[in-house]
Amino acid sequence: MKIKRKVKGRRISKGTVFINVVFSIVFFFVFFLFLIVPKVHLTGNGVITVNVNSKYQDQGIKIDSFKELKNVKAIDNVDTSRLGTYKVEYIYKDSFFKYYLQRKVRVEDLEAPVITLKGNKKEYYCPNKEYEELGYIAYDNVDGDITELVKVFKNRDKIVYEIKDSSNNKSTVIRKIVAKDQENPTMVLNGDSTIFIPLNGNYEEDGVSVFDNCDNNIEKSLKTISNIDNTKIGDYKITYKVKDSGNNKASITRNIKVRKNLEPNTIYLTFDDGPRDGVTDKILDVLKEKEVKATFFVTNNGSDDLIKRIVSEGHSIGIHTASHRYDVIYSSVDNYFNDLEIVRKRIYNLTGIDTNLIRFPGGSSNTISKKYSEGIMSILVKEVLNKGYQYYDWNVDSGDASFAKDKMKLYNNVINSLSHDKYNVILMHDTKVVTMESLSSIIDYASSNGYRFDVLTAEIMPIGQKLNN
Ligand code: ZN
Repeated sequence: MKIKRKVKGRRISKGTVFINVVFSIVFFFVFFLFLIVPKVHLTGNGVITVNVNSKYQDQGIKIDSFKELKNVKAIDNVDTSRLGTYKVEYIYKDSFFKYYLQRKVRVEDLEAPVITLKGNKKEYYCPNKEYEELGYIAYDNVDGDITELVKVFKNRDKIVYEIKDSSNNKSTVIRKIVAKDQENPTMVLNGDSTIFIPLNGNYEEDGVSVFDNCDNNIEKSLKTISNIDNTKIGDYKITYKVKDSGNNKASITRNIKVRKNLEPNTIYLTFDDGPRDGVTDKILDVLKEKEVKATFFVTNNGSDDLIKRIVSEGHSIGIHTASHRYDVIYSSVDNYFNDLEIVRKRIYNLTGIDTNLIRFPGGSSNTISKKYSEGIMSILVKEVLNKGYQYYDWNVDSGDASFAKDKMKLYNNVINSLSHDKYNVILMHDTKVVTMESLSSIIDYASSNGYRFDVLTAEIMPIGQKLNN
């Protein structure tokens, strides 16, 4: 048998070769295209979320090829002031290719509203009362004032405030509340803070007004501590103390001054406005000769020697004011005290006496001060007491500064005004020649008619007239 052997082999037909060639060409063409076609894409993500009202700057596009990014048209209408979804578009074109790229930009409200509490984050309230809400406001960057949307939850020791804006952003604020009285009671004195009572006289208690934020019966805790001894001239205090149920305390003090009453059948000669050289010295001569002591309310006028002489010859000295100018001293409380201080220091520096005796120019009842400051006398009479001064008006006006222009008029007016039944505080001026000239005969009349003389001192009860301003 003849064995036919067939050599197996591939027969490559002409058709196959053709196909292979075409494939190769296509392959190389695609590869070539791959090399030359530019790859353009967005920088960053295709979808971006930004907060409303923030600044938005698109990151743009980039190209992965040797080509340059030219002829790019960008359309960017993103408006971050308004919520919404915007498109940022890019069109890239070169000689062969055109690309269109698009990014979505979402403008959203990413900010939570803000709750602002009125009062503190920790508030105390009366244990015997309900906590009273102090209030709050809620504000949102997009929705505006949304206070009325706040939900308030209360439990024993805290209050929770919750708010949600229209974009569902949430905020929560907590206020701690503590049932404890932290506030001191308040106290106000009824009546004056300085009260003068005569030696052996009675003190009438005006009491105090007390208020507490929690306790309605705070008065029950009132304790009064007093060291008054009305049998001795001196300065005393009454202290009023209260304590609320939360152990908060308050106290207030009243000054009580026990003073000697002015004596009846007694003449208190008082000389204002000096010293005046040529007048005050003559008046001092007369007083010395008659062995009578008087009281001088001095100003910044005259020689220092006269101030010294008043004191060294045993007279009492007080302050009238430095300038005696109504327009200055009565235009303000500060002005008054500044002016007063000048003379207080003058007296102290010259004599070593720190006097607290004063007399208001024009007296406490003057109306002229109204021209410069309405109501100032009502304030000053209290303020001088607070500062430790005692003021002395008069109950007999000699008239030497007004109608009593001559010796006889002055003399007659004074002696006709004297009384054995009451004290006689006589207003005179050691600036007036007529006073200097009639003093001797006035003293003679008084002495021979059984009057005695005395001086005003800090131990004597102040004498005030009825206020008119
Ligand atoms: Zn005067």
